[in-house]
Amino acid sequence: MRLNRTLPPAASPIYPKDIISGLKGLVHGQRELERFKKELKTYFGIKHCFLLSSGKAALTLVLRALSDMHPHRDEVLIPAFTCYSVPSAIVRAGLKVRLCDINPDTLDFDFDQLSKILNKPNEPNEPNEPNKPNEPNEPNEPNQPFSRLLAVIPVHLFGLPSDINRLRELISDPEVNIVEDSAQAMGGEWNGKNLGTLGDISFFSLGRGKALSTVEGGIVLTNREDIAKRIMARLSRISDYSLIDMMKLVIKSILLNIFLHPGLYWVPKSIPFLRLGATIYDSTFNITKMSPYQAGLANGWEDKLQRLKVDRKKNSKNWLSSLKSGYIHHYCSNSSNLPNLIRYPIRFDNNALRERIVQQSHRLGLGIMYTYPDSIDHIKEITSHFKGKYFPVANKISKNLITLPIHPFVSQNDRSQITASISQQTQQTQ
Ligand SMILES: *Cc1c(COP(=O)(O)O)cnc(C)c1O
Repeated sequence: MRLNRTLPPAASPIYPKDIISGLKGLVHGQRELERFKKELKTYFGIKHCFLLSSGKAALTLVLRALSDMHPHRDEVLIPAFTCYSVPSAIVRAGLKVRLCDINPDTLDFDFDQLSKILNKPNEPNEPNEPNKPNEPNEPNEPNQPFSRLLAVIPVHLFGLPSDINRLRELISDPEVNIVEDSAQAMGGEWNGKNLGTLGDISFFSLGRGKALSTVEGGIVLTNREDIAKRIMARLSRISDYSLIDMMKLVIKSILLNIFLHPGLYWVPKSIPFLRLGATIYDSTFNITKMSPYQAGLANGWEDKLQRLKVDRKKNSKNWLSSLKSGYIHHYCSNSSNLPNLIRYPIRFDNNALRERIVQQSHRLGLGIMYTYPDSIDHIKEITSHFKGKYFPVANKISKNLITLPIHPFVSQNDRSQITASISQQTQQTQ
């Protein structure tokens, strides 16, 4: 166990002044939530905004609203390598997960495979599961012009923009909506447009380790009146945080303020039941409206996000220029046009090397981390959704990717240590 300076792999600081704003928000109540909503609508130039307890809660609500509009559709297409929260929200919404493999060099969809999937909406679905003998026959027999696809979810993984224009060109069915997963991309841009404004509807996460954090939180944005109306109907049936849960948020924000610092991060990291950094599939999360405490924590978010972006960009630029080796694949090519990342992904096509680098990082507290442990089709709770299907690229990527920290706690000394550690391990391979 390491009892010394340890970098978290990702961090969105919560400052004492944020906590004070949060407490003021508690006093202001609904007014604080309205302020946050209004600022978001203005910043993103979007008509409708809804605030929830998490990104997963936001996505679940969005999918349920879409499902209300198109009750005969129950499938949602996502990349086969992504955050486990995405399939967990789909399952929570009572829908089926469908996968498309990814491009190993962009982490976006494999667009050749995507175009085949989207142009073959009549492809017969999996046979009825044997444990559901009473289920009626699926309505989409191969010759019926009838699709069950409800939505496609492109993900800006780590902040790398997904090519949503290209996706849109492939979707010919107007009932299939694009739900833009901008959970990791708040403040990012693509071709001069804000990420989070490109889909029919989009969401951000304000969880720990996202671009901006209010302990937990989710934001939904849309310009579509029809979708907004359905969301409002659903939202009116969702409850608020209980007083106890709100107190827990206050305590968590104070703990985050203290323990995200590299000097103390080893404390929570060494407590096994916190399971920091573990990827867990869980479809039983809470779904509540955002509390005024969280809206208060977010007060001043535009400046804060801007400053965080500058720090993260500076660190990304450093990794791009200082780590040059035939063993390392970068996901950014041009230092003048770097995306707004929250963690800096690199790929090692040599497994042993990747393993050694992460182990060394554990010993030295360098904040280098694996990403998601497996492709989505291998999550044991949902493997039945994908019987007989394989997603080899997604599977391989899950074993080859790591991320480097780029948050504001990364110091010059950390940067030197990380660079030295990686080049030392890389040279041993040569
Ligand atoms: C974090 C995340 C989510 C879920 O957000 P939470 O606020 O953690 O529920 C969804 N999608 C992606 C890509 C994420 O990274």
